[in-house]
Amino acid sequence: MLITFVPPIMISTPFKIHLQNVFSAKGLADDSIQTFVPVSGGSVNEAYKVELASGNYFLKVNRLDFFPQMFEKEDLGLSLLNNKSLITVPNVLFYGEFENHAYLVMEYIEECDLDKNYWAKFGEGLAQLHQNSSAQFGLDYTNYNGSLAQINSVKSNWTDFFVENRLMEQQRQAYDKGRLDKTLSDQLENLYPKLESFFPTEDPSLLHGDLWSGNYLVKNGKPCFMDPAVYYGHREVDIAMSLLFGGFGKEMYEVYNDYFPLEKGWEKRVDVANLYPLMVHVNLFGASYAQRVKSILKHLV
Ligand code: ADP
Repeated sequence: MLITFVPPIMISTPFKIHLQNVFSAKGLADDSIQTFVPVSGGSVNEAYKVELASGNYFLKVNRLDFFPQMFEKEDLGLSLLNNKSLITVPNVLFYGEFENHAYLVMEYIEECDLDKNYWAKFGEGLAQLHQNSSAQFGLDYTNYNGSLAQINSVKSNWTDFFVENRLMEQQRQAYDKGRLDKTLSDQLENLYPKLESFFPTEDPSLLHGDLWSGNYLVKNGKPCFMDPAVYYGHREVDIAMSLLFGGFGKEMYEVYNDYFPLEKGWEKRVDVANLYPLMVHVNLFGASYAQRVKSILKHLV
């Protein structure tokens, strides 16, 4: 999907009235005026804190025609992660459409400090999450990674899944957009046959799928996931992604390893696992990320 600029939406008065009616119908609001406070930090949607007498809510809005079913998929992803580990997810209250807008309303997570054992709990929770398995790699529906469609067609072999649904797909899009030159594209092609037994054989793990530091929250001091791109995959990709831009406490990795030890040599596989999020970044944010892909490939191909 070639989207580089999403025009601002701003909540119109009829849209506000519509939301007010939905909140009221769900028993979440009386007739009091709603306050919509813009929340920054997202890369895809407009976000607002909605302040009501019954409490605060988090509202995301986007153009219906740009990202079909994005909020339905977000709700499905959060539901899949819910109760699978001690890492919580925000409770989704409702999602819907108004004119040419789609919206999603969830509980508002108030900012607070991290508990002392936040990272230990994160490590334990991530290990628990990864112990949820499935017969095959993938998922029974396509979802989103950021604003890119993420294809999850199931495979019994991790390498096939990773190469076909993750690397090749991103490579094709980046090449078509002119963000990947022919040499780099060929180097990726050359890498694929070499990945056959690169990752240790493991059962599919339920993954967050987009585990960077912008995608966790602190709920009452404890870890809480947000914005997942769920599927059943190799757990080393969640670990690798958490290391790509940093922002996770080192206790997280130590405790994770106590509960669900990673296979020997996992550190050497991090760069290859991160080719997927880096290629996603090439497609979402521009060719500058191709430099990191290039330097990884230089050491591999
Ligand atoms: P996008 O879907 O556009 O990437 P995000 O989901 O990342 O948007 O949210 C934008 C901002 O709102 C982030 O800074 C994030 O920390 C914050 N945020 C996300 N979910 C909640 C929530 N349930 N409660 C409070 N703040 C949230």
